[in-house]
Amino acid sequence: APATPNSENLYARAREVMPGGNTRTTVYRKPHQIYAWRGDGCRITDVDCHVRIDALGNFTSLIHGYGNRQILEAATRQLEAGTCFGMPTESEIRLSEILCDRLPSVEQLRYTNSGTEAVMNAIKAARAYTGRPKIAKCEGAYHGTYDPAETSQDATPATWGDIDRPGSVPTAKGTPQGVLDDVVVIPFNNTPVAEAILRASGNSLAAVLVDVMPNRAGLVPAKPEYLAMLRRVTRELGALLILDEVITFRLGYNGAQGRFDIDPDFTTLGKIIGGGFAIGAIGGRAEVMSVFDPSKGPPAVPHGGTFSANPMSMSAGIAALEELTPAAFEKLEALGDRFDQGIGACFARHGIKGQVAGLGSLRRVHLTDAPLSDYRSTFAADGAARVSALAKALFDEGVIIAGNGLMAFSTAMEDADIDEIVRAFDRALLPFAS
Ligand code: PMP
Repeated sequence: APATPNSENLYARAREVMPGGNTRTTVYRKPHQIYAWRGDGCRITDVDCHVRIDALGNFTSLIHGYGNRQILEAATRQLEAGTCFGMPTESEIRLSEILCDRLPSVEQLRYTNSGTEAVMNAIKAARAYTGRPKIAKCEGAYHGTYDPAETSQDATPATWGDIDRPGSVPTAKGTPQGVLDDVVVIPFNNTPVAEAILRASGNSLAAVLVDVMPNRAGLVPAKPEYLAMLRRVTRELGALLILDEVITFRLGYNGAQGRFDIDPDFTTLGKIIGGGFAIGAIGGRAEVMSVFDPSKGPPAVPHGGTFSANPMSMSAGIAALEELTPAAFEKLEALGDRFDQGIGACFARHGIKGQVAGLGSLRRVHLTDAPLSDYRSTFAADGAARVSALAKALFDEGVIIAGNGLMAFSTAMEDADIDEIVRAFDRALLPFAS
């Protein structure tokens, strides 16, 4: 590994003032963190001047990489005009117009500062709208850190319970039992079992929360019949369907709901819609969104936020989405295809049992050839330790991916960058050859 004296010094300082020297569990790394200095296009230079290709894009949020001209200009203009006001700005209307235009199920939106808050507000809205306490979520899926949304991502199989009745397992110690009791956990992609569990919750279910391609459960797409069942059964039970598109909105011009032809009641957004600034959004039909409406008296769900809809995030987001044309999506698809071919050839050359999950500009590398359909199968295949070792080796070879193998391609990449990523894989995969 290359020498990193500057990062080591920073980490020594960090340990004094932050627990474990860290403020984001998701970016923690041993033996010490590597600190970013700057980003250019699809590359990050660290504080020791090592340059790496960024195939993660701050966990899928930087779909145009760093220094995109249009985003830079829009954000600079806004910076000069004022970063935030205790007043609304036109930019929130414009971003909403773009998103409503693209997302078939969304007529109205509200903004937050993160995907976590977007999911939290969607859950609160569903509870207010239905007058019911429970939400259902898929085992192993990540939806941010609001109490009911974060259960059942535990890495200790002994706690999971039977597949026919997965337990509502706390992720954070100290989660109140009352919270866990109001979460119904369903297995991802197992249509009959999930349907039976949902029906058993009957009229206490406010909403089902689903991500059509949950990263932590494997980045395996949902089966069409699974999604169709969720839509049908929620309607029958009088519950709402919340589609978490915080990551998957980048799967196409009309989001994952366009690509998968699904009609949710609420959609949660984040990441790319802020053009690299902090953001989240909740959208849906006007009728369900009316729980937030303060114009007819106190709303069913009061929602504010000092920095919600701040014009920095709004204007950068508008620029990012305007750059995300149908042609940009075609380019992203082509980059993904090129990676698949390259990595497939690597696996074959080295005789490695591997596979790549994902769609569009998102991928997750797995070091197993076992079929993956949900959290349990992904976990059982137990690539986890090996994949994180591969991610570390790739980092030293000059490519950044997530520790679980997650990758995101950006419009700042060209074919040559994908080829460079594949060559780094080729070297990093050597120790995994059988
Ligand atoms: N939902 C999904 C599907 C996510 O992947 C994430 C973040 N990775 C979140 C919600 C939470 O978003 P944030 O990190 O902005 O709070």
